[in-house]
Amino acid sequence: AASVFDVIIIGAGAAGLFCAGVAGQRGLKVLLIDHSPKVAEKIRISGGGRANFTNRDLDPRQPHKHYLSENPHFCRSALSRYTPADFVSLLQRHGVPFHEKHKGQLFCDRSAQDLIDVLLRECAAGGVTRWQPCAVQAVRFSDAEAATRYTVETDRGPAHAPALVVATGGLPVPKIGATDFGLRVARQFGLKVVEPRPALVPLTFEPSAWAPFAQLSGLALPVRIATGDKSQRQSFDEDLLFTHRGLSGPAVLQISSYWRPGAALRIDLHPEAALEPLLLAAKAQASRKQLPNELARHLPQRLADTWTATRADWQRPINETPDKALAQLADSLHRWALTPSGTEGYAKAEVMAGGVDTRELSSQTMASRQPGLYFIGEVVDVTGWLGGYNFQWAWASAYACAQALPGV
Ligand code: FAD
Repeated sequence: AASVFDVIIIGAGAAGLFCAGVAGQRGLKVLLIDHSPKVAEKIRISGGGRANFTNRDLDPRQPHKHYLSENPHFCRSALSRYTPADFVSLLQRHGVPFHEKHKGQLFCDRSAQDLIDVLLRECAAGGVTRWQPCAVQAVRFSDAEAATRYTVETDRGPAHAPALVVATGGLPVPKIGATDFGLRVARQFGLKVVEPRPALVPLTFEPSAWAPFAQLSGLALPVRIATGDKSQRQSFDEDLLFTHRGLSGPAVLQISSYWRPGAALRIDLHPEAALEPLLLAAKAQASRKQLPNELARHLPQRLADTWTATRADWQRPINETPDKALAQLADSLHRWALTPSGTEGYAKAEVMAGGVDTRELSSQTMASRQPGLYFIGEVVDVTGWLGGYNFQWAWASAYACAQALPGV
């Protein structure tokens, strides 16, 4: 029958499109379904419209250091079998121009549409059948007959296959079609889910606590940021951005994935050198400069002004400021401790942490304990750092699955 396939893939984002193309080119009869009227909208908006599609710094021998998961080594197998270099050579075969930015991050030169076009051409080369937009009402399993054991009820009628791949992504940005479909399918088949939470997300503070800093909105500077206790300390050296409601920028997005409600952040606002000796040296030269202006040699003026405004003895000429006050000022800037009240949530998050528990999946194939049911991409409890690592997980998990799907 026309509606019987070798595999049905639900979700035509990064992971689903790539998996469909690879499986189709292996000779499998693939159906790819997505409810959204727009193709791969999340790829289109990613990386500021240019898609940071992978990261050259990913170390294939220990890729897990760039990922979070309750099962930290799960991602190693797939990531070491499909590497950033593999994806780069795919783009090169299609003649897509790209460049490296900060810290190994690779972006399209022109736009993310180039990447979407590559994935669509790979699907076409694999003879993939695409139903989009097409809503999915239900997924049913019956082990009566292996060839049609999965039935997917859709807007366009039922489709059948022996294998079902869930590639519906995470919860971020519901307004472009993100849903909890994948988590619901996992639960329907009795698979555990690690509680999802927004990650790579700006952090917010109580309005009263934030009031003194709100005027710094728009200010950016390089910092060292850390969270967690000794055993689980994580830190990043990146740019911090002040916002009206709290903090953002790469430093905060990175640390947000590790931050847990109630925990404090520690921020060093001048990580490149100790401030105390610099301030004492200026004082030793009998500088009559106002302390905020002296500090502004090392920090943005607006930050220096706002910071010193909190104490009377930080607002005098530096030669009249006691050594102890200088030491305390330096210390306060190197060890700013603050506790966020929350995050900007899924509307602003770049990724979802948590998801289908990897202890339910094979790290070789992405197959779950439920026969013929696979999960790939962001819906799985593997969450990458900022910088192209989430797309690389989408490609690698999709590839592992596509290679393993039962053949023709
Ligand atoms: P998605 O790409 O989200 O695809 C899921 C698909 O499933 C969607 O097409 C959706 O319409 C479909 N779907 C959902 N629910 C249903 C349903 N019920 N029925 C049918 N279809 C459904 N990562 C990077 O590595 N680099 C970046 O530069 C980057 N920038 C980002 C910028 C933003 C603003 C955001 C929000 C994310 C960014 N990410 C980036 C993260 C990255 O986009 C995701 O991790 C990646 O797209 C996940 O791939 P996926 O295939 O698992 O899910």
